[in-house]
Amino acid sequence: METLIQAAYLIAAALFILGLKQMSSPVTARRGILWAGAGMVLATLATFMSPQILDSDQVSINIMLIIIAIALGGGYAWYSGKKVAMTDMPQMIAMYNGMGGGAAAAIAAVELIKASNEAAHDVTGSSTVADMLGADVAILGILGAIIGTISFSGSIIAWAKLDGRLNRSKLLPMQHAINALLAIVTLGFGVAIYFTNSIDTIIIFYLLALVLGVFITVPVGGADMPVIISLFNALTGLAVGFEGYVLGNAAMIIAGIVVGSAGSLLTQLMAKAMNRSVANVFFAGFGTDAVAVSGNGSEGVMKEIQAQDAGILMSFASQVVIIPGYGMAVAQAQHKIWELTQILTEKGVSVKFAIHPVAGRMPGHMNVLLAEAGVPYDMIYDMEDINADFKNTTVALVIGANDVVNPSAKTDSSSPLFGMPILDAIDSDNVIVIKRGRGTGFSGVENPLFFADNTKMLFGDGQKAASELIQAAKEL
Ligand code: NDP
Repeated sequence: METLIQAAYLIAAALFILGLKQMSSPVTARRGILWAGAGMVLATLATFMSPQILDSDQVSINIMLIIIAIALGGGYAWYSGKKVAMTDMPQMIAMYNGMGGGAAAAIAAVELIKASNEAAHDVTGSSTVADMLGADVAILGILGAIIGTISFSGSIIAWAKLDGRLNRSKLLPMQHAINALLAIVTLGFGVAIYFTNSIDTIIIFYLLALVLGVFITVPVGGADMPVIISLFNALTGLAVGFEGYVLGNAAMIIAGIVVGSAGSLLTQLMAKAMNRSVANVFFAGFGTDAVAVSGNGSEGVMKEIQAQDAGILMSFASQVVIIPGYGMAVAQAQHKIWELTQILTEKGVSVKFAIHPVAGRMPGHMNVLLAEAGVPYDMIYDMEDINADFKNTTVALVIGANDVVNPSAKTDSSSPLFGMPILDAIDSDNVIVIKRGRGTGFSGVENPLFFADNTKMLFGDGQKAASELIQAAKEL
């Protein structure tokens, strides 16, 4: 049986890795998710067969409890996954991520409390957690506990912020010093767990780690949330890997390492796309909510255009580049935009889509929406591939994007966005911006593009404006 279980874990691990590989392209991503999901089902079934469960005198209770947990967790995940709006996906990811970290921390808690009890009732009476678990298992267990707990409470704060339930992102006085002190004290309690057999120490350690996760995440600015979520994802993977070592579970170790390394890479890539270091994300308090910051050239007037005129301009263009952003997701305008694209293409206009790596509210957000609408992948260009082409573009159509086309990121060293690579829509002959009003984007920074000479604003909801453009283009 043990050989069968290990073989199942190995196959599950292979499915995780192959699934992840397929997620690197939108063409194969769905299949990748199915493969990784199949791996998870296999690993779960194999766990049912493990001797710790089957050889216990409480076998039926154990199995019943696991089935109830799977039914509750799986049922809720199925329901919420079906129901969630595309715009709320990052919150869901933050929440699931936190649950993963929490689960790893809970495994550690069970093992540490068990070892602590055994140590306290040992004949010598002075044994420690390390004596019971062995140095390697105790160290990795405690490290996994602290990382998993921080990821748990930090992810819940990230969820609350993205869901608009918590807006605070200003730094408290001495915030970094307090965080550093808290981290040192928490680690101190971790060391104390190793050398003692005190349940109280374990409880205080967990409470401190929970507070640390909150304190680390509260000051992080809204615009940096994607990087933080990705980092917590990596940390959750690491915690799961460590606890896999504690339990001697190969599938957990491999899955944890895969998630940890993929999350770390994604964190690096996202930080690079925002031109920020990961340390800067944690310590700068950037993108404080609801602070509108003026960028250079934002003092002029916005010039309006009607859909009729915009439709004519685009119909006679040689090239139109469409830049979708978060507002397109809110308006669910992707289907209308694809319809508009087809009409323009029939008229001989070359239409391309330009995607910024952090457009929307989650990595790959725009790619997912465009794929859902049926836009072919070869029409979709990454920022570095399209930026030079804006100079040859008659119309850049910005729909619900703001921060990702903000030129102050290049020109205004006082802008909080300064240094973030942007889509150079401003280089096009004409820029048409669809948005509902004069509000700022996620970072709260004013956008000088909207006041530029070659920019016209088409005010309105994204879907309604796209329908009007379709109408205008059809009439020609
Ligand atoms: P922004 O948030 O900068 O701007 C979105 C714009 O959409 C707003 O200016 C808003 O203006 C407009 N809008 C909202 N609703 C509608 C609607 N129904 N119809 C038309 N327009 C609408 O989005 P970007 O995509 O440009 O930038 C993404 C930002 O989010 C970056 O700052 C990024 O760092 C951050 N972020 C990214 C994540 C990711 O992983 N991709 C995750 C979390 C944050 P108005 O209100 O006037 O309509």
